[in-house]
Amino acid sequence: RAYTKDDIRQKIVDENVEFLRLQFSDVFGNIKNVEVPVSQLEKVLSNNLMFDGSSIEGFVRIEESDMYLYPDLATFMIFPWATDEHGGKVARLIADIYTVDREPFAGDPRSNLKRVLKQMTADGFSKFNLGTEPEFFLLKLDEKGKPTMNLNDKGGYFDLAPLDMGENTRREIVLEMEKMGFEVEAAHHEVAPGQHEVDFKYADALDAADNIQTFKLIVKTIARKHGLYATFLPKPISGINGNGMHVNMSLFNDAGNAFYDEEGELQLSETAYHFLGGVLEHAASFTAITNPTVNSYKRLTPGYEAPVYVAWSGSNRSPMVRVPASRGNSTRLELRSVDPTANPYLTFAAILTAGLDGIERKLEPTHAVDRNIYLMDESERRRAGITDLPDTLLEAVSKLQEDEVIQSAIGKHMARTFVDAKRLEYQSYRREVSQWEIDNYLEQY
Ligand code: ADP
Ligand code: MG
Ligand code: MG
Ligand code: MG
Ligand code: MG
Repeated sequence: RAYTKDDIRQKIVDENVEFLRLQFSDVFGNIKNVEVPVSQLEKVLSNNLMFDGSSIEGFVRIEESDMYLYPDLATFMIFPWATDEHGGKVARLIADIYTVDREPFAGDPRSNLKRVLKQMTADGFSKFNLGTEPEFFLLKLDEKGKPTMNLNDKGGYFDLAPLDMGENTRREIVLEMEKMGFEVEAAHHEVAPGQHEVDFKYADALDAADNIQTFKLIVKTIARKHGLYATFLPKPISGINGNGMHVNMSLFNDAGNAFYDEEGELQLSETAYHFLGGVLEHAASFTAITNPTVNSYKRLTPGYEAPVYVAWSGSNRSPMVRVPASRGNSTRLELRSVDPTANPYLTFAAILTAGLDGIERKLEPTHAVDRNIYLMDESERRRAGITDLPDTLLEAVSKLQEDEVIQSAIGKHMARTFVDAKRLEYQSYRREVSQWEIDNYLEQY
C-alpha cells in the first residue's frame, strides 16, 4: 500500500480532508500530534514542516529545538470518525523526526528502529515479523466523562453476550480497524472480567509498531463513543489478570521463515535457537523497555498467566518464551512478558538486537522447561538455569544500565533519557504511602 504524493493530493480532494495530522512517538511511547490545515500539504509532502522539539518531554533542550517532520507516505490514512460539522475529514501521516541539519534525530524511536532494521539487513535477514496481542480493560465513564474503576462486564475467556457487554464496542473496534486497513484475525473476551483482546495479522517491525500506536488510538476512540474508557494499563485491578501484549516474532530471509527447519529439533532452525539464546540472555535487561512502568511489575507476579522467570518452552504456556505449535511460515517465538505500556518502537529494537546478538555469538538457550515452573523450588530452578525477571522498575533500570548491547539498541541519547526519567518515576512512586501499608501496618505498630 505505497502512496505517491499525487495519490495523497487526489485523496485529500476526493474525501474532503481539511486537516493533516502528523504523528510521531516520544521515548515513552506516547503519540504526539502536529495538526495543520490542508493548505500546508505541500510543505508537509516536501519534508519542510517544522515543530518545536523542546516542548516534547525527553526530546531536546531549548537551544536545539527546531525539528523537521518527514512523513512516511505509506502511513497515510483518513480517520473514518473525525468529521467536523461540514463533513471535513482529518487524515494522518506517521512521521520521522529530523534535526535542522536534516539528520535522523537520535531521540526519535521510529528512526532508531529503522537504524536497527538496517543492522538486521546487513546480517542477512529481510524481515523481522511481529504479531502482537494487546489486551485492554473496558471501564465505565462517569457523568463527567472521567474513567471509573467499574468494569463494564463480568464475562470471562471467550464468553458470549449478554455476559460479554463489551461485544458491541469490540465489534465496532474491529470494523473501524478494517476500514483503516488492518487484517483482524480474532477478537475475544479475555480471562478477566471487562478484559478484551484483538489480534491482527503480523507485519514487518516498522509497520507492526505503527499498527500498535494506531490500534490504541482506535480502541480508545471507539470505547469513548460507547461511554467506556479503554485502559492498557498492565494491572489496573489487583487479584485478576493484567493486560499483556504478547509479542510473536520471526525472522525472514529470501528463502522464507529463518526460524523453520524441517530437520531441526522441534523443527526449529539453528537461527531460531541462537535468537532465543540472545533473547533469554538479555531478557532481564530489556525488561525496563518491555515493562516500563511501576505498575508493570504488579502484572509480573505468579498466578495470573504472566511470566516471572526467564525460561522457555516448546509446549506449555507459562514460561516467558513459548514456541507456538504452528510451523512452516508461521514458525515463531512468543515473548509473553511484554505489556502494552511498552513503546513498541523501542521494544522491537531491543528484542531484535538481543536476538541478533544471540545469532552472532551463537548463544545456546537453556533447556526447555516443560513442567510448571511455579511448582519448582529455587534450587530446582537454579539447576535448570532459570533466572528471575526483575521485580521492580528500579531493578529493571539497573539491569538495563549494565547491558551495553540493549543500551545500544535504543541508542545512547534515548537510553540516557529513558533511564533518568524512569529512576525519577520510581522515586516519585516510592515516596507515596499505599493503602496496603495502612491496612497491614497501621494497627500493628
Ligand atoms: P495465542 O495463541 O497466543 O492467543 P494469537 O492467535 O492470539 O495467539 O496471536 C498470534 C499472533 O501471531 C497473530 O498476531 C499472528 O498474526 C502472529 N503470527 C503468525 N505467524 C507469525 C510469524 N511467522 N511471525 C510473527 N508473528 C506471527
Ligand atoms: Mg491471543
Ligand atoms: Mg491474551
Ligand atoms: Mg487469540
Ligand atoms: Mg499469546
